[in-house]
Amino acid sequence: MTMSPKLPRRSVCAAALALVVVGSAWGQAWPTRPITLVVPFAAGGPTDIVARALSVPMGKALGQTVIIENKVGAGGTVAATLVSRANPDGYTFLIHHNGMATAPALYRKLAYNPLTDFEYVSQVIDVPMTLVARKDLPAKTLPELLSYLKAHGDKVNLAHAGLGAVSHLCGMVFRQAVGVDLTTVPYSGTGPAMAALLGGQVDLLCDQTTQTVPQIKAGAVRFYGVTTAQRIKALPDAPTLAEQGLKGFEVMVWHGIYAPKGTPREALDKMNSALRTALKDPTVTTRMAELGAEQVPESKLTADGLRSWLKQEIERWGPVIRSAGVYAD
Ligand code: ASP
Repeated sequence: MTMSPKLPRRSVCAAALALVVVGSAWGQAWPTRPITLVVPFAAGGPTDIVARALSVPMGKALGQTVIIENKVGAGGTVAATLVSRANPDGYTFLIHHNGMATAPALYRKLAYNPLTDFEYVSQVIDVPMTLVARKDLPAKTLPELLSYLKAHGDKVNLAHAGLGAVSHLCGMVFRQAVGVDLTTVPYSGTGPAMAALLGGQVDLLCDQTTQTVPQIKAGAVRFYGVTTAQRIKALPDAPTLAEQGLKGFEVMVWHGIYAPKGTPREALDKMNSALRTALKDPTVTTRMAELGAEQVPESKLTADGLRSWLKQEIERWGPVIRSAGVYAD
């Protein structure tokens, strides 16, 4: 018969009590107060639209409000830096897109390592992009736009959401595909960039369908095509840019939810399960389908699915960006 070491009765009780307290703080009680989901771009833009659509059903599933906080700047790296340094208490999360993978090659002095300074909750949803222009730009079709750019390229400008934003990445790929050096104009998100396009202050914008579909349907912008390999259900008659001859022009926006390194597993797992519930909520499925977003397979809705995808994307974009020589100090 094995004997446990003899502890005074009082310490055994204290140890048991401590276990119960820890257990209830993380096993059952989390979350006991609102949770912050940081969005790295301006309110009203595509990342914000996805985050806000999910925050309500996620909050319902968690029994606490999910508060959206927009922390803008430097193509999303300001927000990622803040979250990497936040208290890992289970109350701060970050939603970010491809920018999480492109920043290490774009920023020489990045204050965080996307693969070691975070915990991973899940991938979220995929969103195609579209190339649009101000309504009064003379070019009505892609061939007309290409001729227009050949003639006036140095005077045409392209809005984007900062170095590391997908609108910037898409713009870079477009500039490379057409061989014209456009002037770029940064905004704190493509919400304000779209406002500038609608106001005629900028000429071109490459942006997610979650923001552009309503503007395209209303005829408020010129529209040249989608950036995906296949046509999309939300804009069935719209050609892809690739089928119109812009070979290799395929960009899809993916999203992930992250937390500061050290965030307790219970919080990560419960966020994951709340996200899965939210992604099945009819308000989310209907709205996201109308806006061209695509659900991702179950295998991507895991912490490992996000981390391994992020690693692949860092390896994919690093050499492309480095060979293009685009970077920020
Ligand atoms: N669409 C933006 C981007 O270019 C971000 C945003 O405003 O949501 O990355």
